[in-house]
Amino acid sequence: MVHCSPVQHQVSCSKLICKFGVFPFQSSCDKDVILNILSVLTDLLSLGTGRRIHYVVSKGGSEALLQALATAARTEPPDHDILLPLLRLLARVGQRDRKFGLKVQKAEATDIILSLTRRDLGHHLHLTHCLWVLRVCASNVTTGTMLGINGAMELLFKVITPYSKRHVRTVRAAIGALAALLKSKSNSRRAVNRGYLGELLRLYQDWHRNDVSNNYIYIRRGLLLCLKYITNIQLGRETFFGSRGMEILFTSVQDCLSCKNLDPIITTATHILRKCYPKEHLPVVTVRSSYSFPLPGNANSEPPCEGSEGDSESEGEEEAEKDWENEDVDSKEEDCDLETDVNKLRSRPVLDRPEQELEKYEALCAELSQNFQSLEDRTENLPSTPSHFIPRATSVKHPNCRWRNQSVSEMGPDPGEQDFKVPLQSWRKKEECIWDKNDEKRDIADEVQDKDFCEEEDPSRSHVFALCPLPKDAAWYKKMFYPHCEASINPSPAGRLESSEVVRNLLEKHQRDIQFHSPHFYAARAKCVKSIPGYRELAFPDFWGHQPPPYSKPVLERKHGVQRDKVLDDVRRLIQPGDVIGRTVFDLDDPSPAAPGCLTFFSKFESGNLRKAIQVREFEYDLIMNADVNSNQHHQWFYFEVRDMKSAVPYRFNIINCEKLNSQFNYGMQLVMYSVREALQGRPRWIRAGQEICYYKNHYRCSAAAGGGVRGRFYYTLTFSIKFPHQDDVCYLAYHYPYTYSTMMSHLDILERNRNPKKVYWRQQTLCQTLGGNPCPLLTITAMPESKNRDDLEQFCNRPYVFLTARVHPGESNASWVMKGTLEFLVSSDPIAELLRKCFIFKIVPMLNPDGVINGNLRCSLSGDDLNRQWLTPSSQLHPTIYHAKGLLYYLSSIGRAPLVFCDYHGHSQKKNVFLYGCSIKETLWQAGCMVDTAVVTEDVGYRTLPKILDKVAPAFVMNSCSFLVEKSRASTARVVVWKEMGVLRSYTMESTYCSCSHGLYRVSKPSKKPSGLQLGTQELEEMGSKFCLGLLILHLKSLPCSKELMAQAALLLDLEEEITDRAQRSVTVVSRGLCCGN
Ligand SMILES: [Zn+2]
Repeated sequence: MVHCSPVQHQVSCSKLICKFGVFPFQSSCDKDVILNILSVLTDLLSLGTGRRIHYVVSKGGSEALLQALATAARTEPPDHDILLPLLRLLARVGQRDRKFGLKVQKAEATDIILSLTRRDLGHHLHLTHCLWVLRVCASNVTTGTMLGINGAMELLFKVITPYSKRHVRTVRAAIGALAALLKSKSNSRRAVNRGYLGELLRLYQDWHRNDVSNNYIYIRRGLLLCLKYITNIQLGRETFFGSRGMEILFTSVQDCLSCKNLDPIITTATHILRKCYPKEHLPVVTVRSSYSFPLPGNANSEPPCEGSEGDSESEGEEEAEKDWENEDVDSKEEDCDLETDVNKLRSRPVLDRPEQELEKYEALCAELSQNFQSLEDRTENLPSTPSHFIPRATSVKHPNCRWRNQSVSEMGPDPGEQDFKVPLQSWRKKEECIWDKNDEKRDIADEVQDKDFCEEEDPSRSHVFALCPLPKDAAWYKKMFYPHCEASINPSPAGRLESSEVVRNLLEKHQRDIQFHSPHFYAARAKCVKSIPGYRELAFPDFWGHQPPPYSKPVLERKHGVQRDKVLDDVRRLIQPGDVIGRTVFDLDDPSPAAPGCLTFFSKFESGNLRKAIQVREFEYDLIMNADVNSNQHHQWFYFEVRDMKSAVPYRFNIINCEKLNSQFNYGMQLVMYSVREALQGRPRWIRAGQEICYYKNHYRCSAAAGGGVRGRFYYTLTFSIKFPHQDDVCYLAYHYPYTYSTMMSHLDILERNRNPKKVYWRQQTLCQTLGGNPCPLLTITAMPESKNRDDLEQFCNRPYVFLTARVHPGESNASWVMKGTLEFLVSSDPIAELLRKCFIFKIVPMLNPDGVINGNLRCSLSGDDLNRQWLTPSSQLHPTIYHAKGLLYYLSSIGRAPLVFCDYHGHSQKKNVFLYGCSIKETLWQAGCMVDTAVVTEDVGYRTLPKILDKVAPAFVMNSCSFLVEKSRASTARVVVWKEMGVLRSYTMESTYCSCSHGLYRVSKPSKKPSGLQLGTQELEEMGSKFCLGLLILHLKSLPCSKELMAQAALLLDLEEEITDRAQRSVTVVSRGLCCGN
């Protein structure tokens, strides 16, 4: 039946295969049958998709064909009528059969294929067929190794010739087979030892030189692939380097750059160049932070032994060449991390401290036992100010301000004076924490320094605390400040120290229209900050303030080939070192005067981070960030000043010690820049800046020994180029919009002054002192009781709590901007805010890691610990802010007042949008694929309500990005601990992107272009903070019993009539239509 008609059916096909394998090739009649079967199979398998081949493979097709090959090869002389179609079939099936190599071994066919190849060396058509099969055999490393041992590579090098237009098909097949063989390390080693690497380079050069019309790109690329695999081993890389491989490839790539269809060649060559670039240590004395801090007690300040994120320097270092298309590579790993032990998920751990210790937290909840008589007395003395009042620049006469000695006449008349007759001390009553006073270890000097505003002047500090000097020599500066006497200005050589005049001039110029910012308050607060380096200067943007630009910028479109261009430029340092300067122009560890004729860098100010700058070429600088204090890692955050620039010249900056595997900088995110000149001309703005941005692994390595870990570490380069807007400007560059500790403290000062004390209950206390001796503020915000009636006082006391924290990770400045939005909204006169204050008592720790923020850390506190991994068992000595925040939560929980909502604000460096992480037992078990017994595991789904509401009311928020899984690796985070130990159902981490949104209002589509997101600015982040508050109000209305008045007021404000009707029917849905009008 088989020889008569072609059988199209798969069942017949499998029968065919099985028969074929055992077919004895004995007579000429048999030959006809065999040829027939081969032709039918060929027809069958050349049609359609790979599904047929997979079917044949699953039915033992590979084995049958190999057996047929063995039989056919035994005939003497070999019958090529049969062998050729058979080899073609084997090559085709073998390509799709993952276990083909193993099957070849089992059938003992390696020798057969090799001897066929050897025999056919002189016959190109036959040879090509053998080579195809050889190639698929080598796909299995063991089989490949065996072929290598038996002389396959020697054979191939007889076939691969220098440039020739003859037999290119055969040459191509041989190169393909060689590349497959070189995937085996032992073959690579053998190839290097026999000198084949040099041979490959010569062959590549020859083809590159002679193939001027680019007809044989596949052959050139094939040779490169051989080089790529051979250089996966250390010996290969060294030999490649020693054989001038870098020069050869680099030079050849230069010829290819102008031709777009040579991209495959350029990409592969660039990959090899990158891999073979000699590995170096970072050009720093030690990778440990330049700053260290002696820890209290016997705590070890040596960095813990931490491995890097799962990758190690191995011989087979293989890197995906793609430009990071897939963002969610880690989703599989996450699944293994899920907590699937129901008992662990449900257990409630015991108190981590003696119960009587909780009593002291009563002092942080004064609202529960408030004597409103005294409170009223106090507030009546306060100036009643409109809620958005911005203090005048000269309205605060703080004893420690630099300009305190300047008389009023110097400063000009003070129109704001009238409003502020109340002395500073009375409106800012210091409420000290009870245990602060009892801490005997702290000396009196510390005590004085710790006062919220330093009360006693420390002469050793005050005379040097100043603003970073401005470019007084610059023509634009003279023109701005001394328009009439340009010639007579003699800039002081004292530079940074001589700035009172500058400051006075500046304040006269200050626009005073930046909401919630006061340079005076900022400077006063900054003065009291305790930093490891002992900062003496203010960064201009923090002092002067930032105003969001009136536009948002879409994500940067990535230029084709930008990464390889940058890598090639890096390689050029090695090949053409003629223009390489290589001088250190800034070094935290060795502060010698800056070199002339280049950019000047500076970073010794709050949140500043730049350790070293090396001028590579005239307009190119390598920058190294400082590790977190007491640590040897965590580099990603940067913030520094740069001056002495030329205008309209693109400067290239490379931050060469980044650590994350990937970054939003590869997806259109830009860094931020602030120009002092622009600010002084009325545009005080951080703007998204930088072109040709990309992020890639570089050739710097950190050995296990130096890194203090088990494994070595890789480093990554963030590269960008910037054209500065003005000549001789002073500019600041940062990873993200900076928000310093002093910014936060002065912001709180302004909020306190601006609030309406008759309506807003506001209490600022010190939760505790940080290790570095800085106060960590705790805020209590709610509505003042309506009256002193018992009912009103009771309503006041019984409001549920909302507990908010932020900025435990110092590099996540976006979290602080969101918190700023929350705070401003909460104390505002917005009717929704008024309502919200009547619903809740807010406990807020706006900055859980002040020391980290101050000292420019990315992730840790001064103890070198990630504070968001300490919530299970925080140490009162090493992690005081976490210890006491948890203590306060314990206390609330112990008196039956655990918060309705807990939320810790963070920033996410890899993802887009704003979203929540919450905790759900059921979702965790489902995700992990565990059976869930719904009778045993019951769960309130109320944790989903708030994110659902936010999805509707907050433009940047995306419900789909949220996750409610409990990971083992997150067991010690605030979210999981508060959920588990305090039983808070709605315990969240709120993550804000550094980059942009992929959904909703902030995703824009331009005609004929891919839709892209707007890069979030401070305005959008602050808006998120205020919308979070709105979300809380709606949550309250939906989830808690409310008075009729409250519902009526809310209905009026939010147009929630439908909502209320719905509620009556016990089925509530948020009406998105109505929710926009409130704010
Ligand atoms: Zn974080």
